[in-house]
Amino acid sequence: MPSQLWYNFPMESLPDKSNQRKIPRREFLKKLPIIAGSAMALGTDNILSAPHHKEKQTKNVEIEKDRKSRLQKELNFNNIPGSHTLDSVVVGSRHEEVERLIGETNMCPELIDFEKAIYVPVDKYIIPVDKKDEAERIAERYFSEYVKKYKNSGVTIENSVHWTTADVRMAASDKTFIDDAENNSYTWRVCAVVENKGRILKGKYLPRYVVAYHELMHVEEIERGEKVSIFNNQKLSEILPTTQTIILLDRIYKELFSRNLSEEIDYEIFLNWGAGKVALGKIANFYRKLEEKYGGIGLAMASQESLEFLYGKI
Ligand SMILES: [Zn+2]
Repeated sequence: MPSQLWYNFPMESLPDKSNQRKIPRREFLKKLPIIAGSAMALGTDNILSAPHHKEKQTKNVEIEKDRKSRLQKELNFNNIPGSHTLDSVVVGSRHEEVERLIGETNMCPELIDFEKAIYVPVDKYIIPVDKKDEAERIAERYFSEYVKKYKNSGVTIENSVHWTTADVRMAASDKTFIDDAENNSYTWRVCAVVENKGRILKGKYLPRYVVAYHELMHVEEIERGEKVSIFNNQKLSEILPTTQTIILLDRIYKELFSRNLSEEIDYEIFLNWGAGKVALGKIANFYRKLEEKYGGIGLAMASQESLEFLYGKI
């Protein structure tokens, strides 16, 4: 729209096309800033559109940045259950515990072997399926107690994980993963997805609240902003959640059958690593007592007694 561009000229300076009168060069140069100013505002001039385009691009980047940081804040677990952004109080809340375990033990081979030995899902089925509902109620109570520490931030057993009925376990549910560039907002977050139904295997039941407890422990152990997938198992990422799962299931079983907590139950399940074949009930009892003694599963695992147990000396 050249006419608008020229509209800013005082009438006496307009090129008079009728008599071909030209503006004196000196006069023309004086008017240039006005031309530039008008062009920037109107965006009609080809020559001047390059800087304008750049400005627009910069502006878009700024908008993107602003949008991203805003979404980073807004897309927290309250809006999307089980989706923990950088602002979630859950993410990394126990990361230091894992760092300490790795630092103090130098990730000794016994720990790695033990992790492999206990991370066999089939070995977690110890509750008879006819006790399913009662087991779930007890598991819910334990999970509620565990989540209570985040009460002031609005984290509940319902929104701390994403409950799904996808029924594609391990692929779409009962897993925790870092969701970064793949999500729509390009914001960093950790997603914990748990199947709404518990699992049944050969007449034994694994409560959904036990799975949720396990997955939430993963969220707590992941470092904020961490890029590496937890499935890149270089960081003992399964050792603490899985040991805790064993302790928890043993507790639930004992409550269900009114057994003494200190009793060693024979589940007819043995785990095999450097220390030899060790009964599941023994592992549960050993680490439950250590956890009580040290006030946390990470400190318990890193303790001298734990290392001696893993080396087969206890
Ligand atoms: Zn796990």
